Formats: sequence, C-alpha cells, structure tokens
Amino acid sequence: MLLLSPLPINLLALDFPGVTAFVSKLGWPKYRARQILRWVYQSRIRDIHQMTDLALQDREYLQSFVTIGRGSKPRVLQSGDGTRKFLLPLEDGGTIESVLIPEGRRVTLCVSTQVGCTLDCTFCLTGQMGLKRNLRAHEIVEQVLTAQDHLSPSGHITSLVFMGMGEPLANLDEVSDAIHRLTNTQWGLGFSPRRITISTAGLATRLHETAGLGVNLAISLNATTNEQRGRLMPRVNQLHPLPELLDACRTYPLSRGRRLTFEYVLLGGENDSATDAKRLAKLLKGIRCKINLIPFNEFPGNPFRRPDEAVVIQFQSLLRQSHFDVFIRKSRGRDILGACGQLGDLPL
Ligand code: SF4
Repeated sequence: MLLLSPLPINLLALDFPGVTAFVSKLGWPKYRARQILRWVYQSRIRDIHQMTDLALQDREYLQSFVTIGRGSKPRVLQSGDGTRKFLLPLEDGGTIESVLIPEGRRVTLCVSTQVGCTLDCTFCLTGQMGLKRNLRAHEIVEQVLTAQDHLSPSGHITSLVFMGMGEPLANLDEVSDAIHRLTNTQWGLGFSPRRITISTAGLATRLHETAGLGVNLAISLNATTNEQRGRLMPRVNQLHPLPELLDACRTYPLSRGRRLTFEYVLLGGENDSATDAKRLAKLLKGIRCKINLIPFNEFPGNPFRRPDEAVVIQFQSLLRQSHFDVFIRKSRGRDILGACGQLGDLPL
C-alpha cells in the first residue's frame, strides 16, 4: 500500500513510529529506522545516496519513491550585527522565518511555529498577518536543520527559542513532536531540553501541558493591569484575562532549580512608567522567575515607539529593588526585520 502511493514519501515528515512502520513494511529490520533518521537529523543529508551504510541496491530502491524532504532553499538576510534571518519556502507556497543570533560563544535560533498567528498583539508584525496555518513538526525542525547548515562545521546552535512567528501553545501537538525530535539523543538532534524555551502570549489553560516536555517556559506579559493587557494583547486577554494567566503561572509545576521567564516589551509612554514597574513587581511577587525587558523594535506602520534608554534602565532598577533578576534584551537584527516582534510576511 505504502509503495503504491502516487506521491514520494517525505522522510522528514514521518515521526519515529512512522519511520519504524515504514521500514517494517519494506521487510527491513527495525534498527534501520534509527539508522535512517540519524542520516536525516544528525548528518543532515539531502540525498538518499548519502546513506552509505545502506546497500546500493536498497538506496536505489528508496530513491525511487522516497525523498528526504529537504528540497527547499532558504533566502538568507544578513544583518550588520551578525544576525541572520532565514526565509524558508513551504510546499504550499507559504514562507516561514527563523532568526539565528550569534553572541560570543552562544548561538541562539528563534523558530516559528505557525504561518502568521491567531492572536493580534498590537506591537507585533506577525499578528497583523492573521493565521494562515499551523506548522507541522517537520517544518519546525527543518528551520533548525537549515540554520545548522549555515554554520561552520565546528559551530552549533546552543539555544533554541520558540519565539518566532505564531503562538506555540496553539499548535502544541506539533511543537511537542518537534521537541521530541530535537531532544532525542539516539537519532535526533540531541538538544538538552534545558536549552529550549517555549514562549507563550498567555494561553493559560495550556500552560501546564508544557511541563512534561522539560523545556523552559516564557510568558509574554507586557502589561500590569487587565485593562492595559486588553488593549495591548486583546485576543489572548479576552480568552484568558491577566488574573487567570497569573494564577496558571503561580501553579505551574516548576522543577527544582527552574524558574519561569516573564517577557515584557517596553512600549514608550504605554507601559514603561515607574507605576508600571512597581505594579509588575507586585504582580510577580512570590513567583520563581526572571524578567526580560524588551525595548520595542519599531516597524513601519506601527504607532508604538521605542522608549528612551534611560527609561528602560529606570524600569529595570525599580524591579531590581524588589529583588527580581531583570535583564534587558539586546535588539538584534533590526535592520533585516529580524528582531523580536518584527517577523512577518517578507517576500522570498
Ligand atoms: S506576539 Fe506572538 S502571540 Fe502575539 S501576535 Fe505576535 S506572534 Fe502572535
């Protein structure tokens, strides 16, 4: 049945049970599944003939109806600060964006989980696109493979953040599948879950479902009153108002030594006052967390402005007075619309 399919079988699109079923339908031993997946994920091959531990005859047979699924070539935009943005074409004509940010010995990749987004955060370019569709697990993983292809042979990605286009918790099944492939050490990419962060705009009822993945969780908060959050992040706040979100954070099952991250985009004159800083400290009191402040990255057509640096520093020190660990996120890749909140629908 499998072999009569009119379309080539895309190996990358199959999960581990899928590849296992595939090899058993061919009458091959089970260990072949791992062998094949190692080539796909760990060696990042693009051609079946590179699977040199398979007999030539088997490779030729596979070649006749199977693809690796790595056919698409990205467009790469290079920022003056070393950040690179990859625009990866999808089979159905859409595009996804991921951003590679080198900083000293650290290399962070920001990946997308949806084409567009269901939510409509007013400070985000992706939100203006609406949702086109959810990404499949292999389309999420392919962003990582693509970025790795563009690093030097000794270079590797040290952190993965699910903070690109889309709301990861609105596509949690595919995100979880992708994380299994990214963290599997036998045949997958072998990332430690501690090096992976999922960021949510606040889908409170799904927060706890991420706990079993062992990854870090970041919550994009951006407001200190329910009314303010309703203005800045209308859709998600209508679904899960601020008090409900904070309750879900307070009861999140953090394991030993772990903490939540709260992200706070600072919008000049909107949510960056001393009163906001004090309210934020009060809201987060008692939650094991750190806070990342993100000075807004302006983009054409958006009314918000980036606050002055002095305001950002003052906001940070007010929070520090309440004993929070507070970091100011450096803006990277702004010249290629690759910074936080700037991912959108650039043409290929
Ligand atoms: S900030 Fe995140 S959740 Fe909000 S619209 Fe943008 S991509 Fe969607």
